[in-house]
Amino acid sequence: MKENPSASAVSRRDFIATSTTALVAASLAPASLHADEPAASSKLALLGGEKAVKTAPAKRVRWGEPERERLNAMLAQDSLFYWKGPQTTLALERFRKTYPLKYAHTCSSGTGALHIAVIAAGIGPGDEVITSPITDIGTVIGVIYQQGVPVFADLVPGTYNLDPADVERRITPRTKAIIAVHLCGNPCDLHALKAIADKHNLVLIEDACQAWGARFRGQPIGTVGHIGCFSLQQSKHITCGDGGLVASNDERFGPLLQRSGDKGGDRTKPGGGFQTFATNYRMSEPQAAVFAAQLERVEDIASRRARLGNLLTEKIAGVPGLRPHQVHPEDRCVYWFYFFRMEPPAFRCDRAEFVKALAAEGVQCSAGYIPVPLHREPVFLKHGFFAGRWPLREMGLTTIDYSKHHTPEVEAILKTGIRLTIDEAMTDDYITGAAVAVRKVARHYAV
Ligand SMILES: *Cc1c(COP(=O)(O)O)cnc(C)c1O
Repeated sequence: MKENPSASAVSRRDFIATSTTALVAASLAPASLHADEPAASSKLALLGGEKAVKTAPAKRVRWGEPERERLNAMLAQDSLFYWKGPQTTLALERFRKTYPLKYAHTCSSGTGALHIAVIAAGIGPGDEVITSPITDIGTVIGVIYQQGVPVFADLVPGTYNLDPADVERRITPRTKAIIAVHLCGNPCDLHALKAIADKHNLVLIEDACQAWGARFRGQPIGTVGHIGCFSLQQSKHITCGDGGLVASNDERFGPLLQRSGDKGGDRTKPGGGFQTFATNYRMSEPQAAVFAAQLERVEDIASRRARLGNLLTEKIAGVPGLRPHQVHPEDRCVYWFYFFRMEPPAFRCDRAEFVKALAAEGVQCSAGYIPVPLHREPVFLKHGFFAGRWPLREMGLTTIDYSKHHTPEVEAILKTGIRLTIDEAMTDDYITGAAVAVRKVARHYAV
């Protein structure tokens, strides 16, 4: 976007008020042109200039009276065990108000939820599960424990989510499931992924750990695939310290969820013995109490973050060399964080310096997300999942070699992505200031 050069001497607001020519110019200017837009010459805060963000965002308050009330109720109970526990029951009831899924169970983490989903989906030795390599390692821990094989697909450059075409290219006769990670709370292209899953008879598992309150074409994230998985870890939109939830409407998988996180035992049929095998991922009542209270906060947190992230996109759209976080217009992205990319050839600085300059302007930001794609982590490169070994590969049940796994767009995303914190306590003013900072820094370093 071009600045009106004559507006640089006085503030734009004053200028507009005193000049009819400027009024005309302003009415023709893009919507993102703001009264507080700094002039082209404005000095970076990094170099001693004035900060673009005038006031730091307020600290968010994550819990209070509603949580205390639930915890007090919990303390009055005789049992803190999950099965038919009042806090767990209430949490599941509240969960179902937004997510109408017949089978829903609490568990101890998002990792646990995903492991339970993989067990219920029947993933066995040598079965391949296609997923994203830009995610928390918890996405694939359960796959590996079930002796399955995570296969990493490439991602869409602007959404950082699975590229359906690449997913389809990686399907083999051993492929059994897809785990769709809604990175940053941005919905994956679930229409395309569901069509692929249906065509090849695969189970579609949604990793909604970063996506509380997100929506795909109006549908709550976690309800479109066959099984939905959520995390309540401290860093997620809502939390009980650690926790998770797994849910399904599918009659093939739903009835298996409870036992798959509870040592294989079916609590609806006492005395049935152990027909299946699983570990213990149960969540206790104290955590369920906090979870139940936190569920009442989801919609407010999700709608605020969605609005703030979209506002940022609107205000940094069109900056040469920058690619805003791409969200489908009919979806709701809940911005676990905001991720935009810089094209280094467009700037005279590298990403580290760009981020340093942005931080100096008062923007909460950092370079990248995870340091390398999952398959470049030492444990993958060494295929050393079990005491340094991988029996599956030694036995010839898979020939995968993670050191040769190639996902070029993933590498590019991790090298050029800039992470901007979004949280529900931030205001439009802060986001506007952050956008001004992004434009100012981009302009300063533009080639
Ligand atoms: C946090 C997270 C997980 C794992 O959840 P935990 O509760 O930490 O085990 C899995 N997948 C994604 C995308 C996550 O962000």
